[in-house]
This record gives sequence, C-alpha cells and structure tokens, in this order.
Amino acid sequence: MKGKEPVQVELRCPACGQDAWLSRKPIYDGFTKTGETLACALCGHVFASEAEIPFKDNRPKVFSEADRPRPVKVFREDEKGKMCRYCAEYVVNPFLQRCALHKCEVEATDTCPHFRPKPPPKEESEPESPNPFRL
Ligand SMILES: [Zn+2]
Repeated sequence: MKGKEPVQVELRCPACGQDAWLSRKPIYDGFTKTGETLACALCGHVFASEAEIPFKDNRPKVFSEADRPRPVKVFREDEKGKMCRYCAEYVVNPFLQRCALHKCEVEATDTCPHFRPKPPPKEESEPESPNPFRL
C-alpha cells in the first residue's frame, strides 16, 4: 500500500492547451498559510479560483438520452397520411390485402377517407412463441 498521495487533478489548460494537471502551492504570509496558488503544472498558468479551472471529466462517459440513436418511430400521423397499410382496418392475407371496413381488396399504399390509425406496435415485442431452443 502506498502512502497518501495527493490526488492528481487533471485539467485541460486554456493557456497551453494541453492536458495538464493542477499544481497546488500554498501561499504563505510569513508562517501563516493564507491560501493556495492553483496553477497549470505544465505552463504555470495561474487560475484565480477553482471555479476557473477547466477540470477534465474523467468519469466514464454514460450515454445520455440525446446520444442514443433515436428509436425507429412509426411515421407520425401526418407523414403516413391515410395509407391503408397503417389503417386499423387493414388486413393482410397471404394472397391479398383487404380493408376490413369496406370488405374490399386494397393496396398497402392506398389511401382511404375512413382511415383509422392502427395502434402502434409494441416497443419491444416478446417472441410470439417460446423459444424451443431455450431451456
Ligand atoms: Zn498550461
């Protein structure tokens, strides 16, 4: 075990532009410590107060909400318009696509004045059947 070592505070020095660390030197008035000089250990740039020091943030970066790729969103109402494929009445069969409301065949890209938005799909859908390979 090492003895007590001063924590090396890293900073990005605005004067020399380097990744430096803080040099703290006590200021003495006679034998009385009156304060500290806070300076860049590399170039000696003196900071007036700790608030001025551009500390480097060494904490591991946690992705914030803003950094995340936006979840793929279903088109907004105005974007998807009134296309049948987004309609609650839209039924897909193996051979044709139907409108359950008008009992007729439709194309996915058809539009309809009776469009009723389909409820949005679940964000994270569970597998529909239990995985047979999972024990
Ligand atoms: Zn510096």
